[in-house]
Amino acid sequence: MKAEPLRVALTTDDYARYPFLPDALRVVRELGLTLEELGETPLGLQILENARGKILSVIENGTYPPPGGDYRLEVSAFTTALLILSQVGDRALTEKFAVAFSKRVFESIEQDAVRRPELLLYLATVFGWSLRAGSGGISIHFKDYVYAQPEFTGPWKLVNRPLSSGYVEVGWRELARLLQTGVKKYVARLVESASVDPSVVPERLYAVVEEVSQKWAKTRSEVLAYAQAGYRKGDATAFPPCTRALLEDIKSGKNLTHSARFALASFLLSVGFSVEETLEVFKASPDYREDLARYQVEHIAGLRGSRTKYTPYKCDNMRSLGLCRWNCQGVKHPLQFFYRAVRGRPPRVE
Ligand code: SF4
Repeated sequence: MKAEPLRVALTTDDYARYPFLPDALRVVRELGLTLEELGETPLGLQILENARGKILSVIENGTYPPPGGDYRLEVSAFTTALLILSQVGDRALTEKFAVAFSKRVFESIEQDAVRRPELLLYLATVFGWSLRAGSGGISIHFKDYVYAQPEFTGPWKLVNRPLSSGYVEVGWRELARLLQTGVKKYVARLVESASVDPSVVPERLYAVVEEVSQKWAKTRSEVLAYAQAGYRKGDATAFPPCTRALLEDIKSGKNLTHSARFALASFLLSVGFSVEETLEVFKASPDYREDLARYQVEHIAGLRGSRTKYTPYKCDNMRSLGLCRWNCQGVKHPLQFFYRAVRGRPPRVE
């Protein structure tokens, strides 16, 4: 049974920190600002500029700015950012925005897990999750757990969790982490549903849509060019040693294990390789079968099944799977290595 929406006293500070909540959105609707006014009135222009800043911050630094003091501006700018993203219509940008936003929100969720855990329960009901109180804490229905589990290995793996009548027991910190994924997926869905007919989009707003599209295309092409140059040249600074080792194995005709294939494919897709380009890399495998490989790569890219785009394993997981024998200073994730290298600061490897 789905949990009934909880009654939680929300403050305006909550609206600023959780601008996607239905209550927060209602407050902004009550402002009565129309789409046309977004690019014309002083308040509309302020909101538009704030939304633009949020998206550019995600593109340029990978971070969603901390909430400002004016909750109305914060929520309006958030919803305007969703509208802009929906007009840009690039799935990868929406995903990047949703990830950055969910990381920012996670900071608030973590704080509330300690001081106001009922707020976490409220968030879960907003997402339609089914929770129940257990003797040892909170339990979540296994379908919702699987939908939001942040990793598919180690302690997060469903087979490693006690299951009771279809419910998985979780601690507050774990619930916070599940909610982070929930926020990410919820926001991506909000972008999908935010679409409006482009012919009614005011000119000023459309100018921002164009600017964002161009910035994003430039960033993507620079990163992709860097990744592809690295792949072609076997460039020592482009990929982390784990990824280079997997590429070497493929080139030398070795068969990769299932987890090694996943690690390589998810890495290449994450740095911007298309499905076709990723398949091209795998063609060197001795047991390459186009139909199977395409199915797997499209699945990892989120084009099939659950439509979840998978991220590469973290360094800890790579180590436990026997895919890493290096120590990259200050790096917890192979993508972190790559993006530092893109910025001209490749981590030291031991
Ligand atoms: S430490 Fe991380 S990035 Fe470096 S080789 Fe190992 S898994 Fe790859």
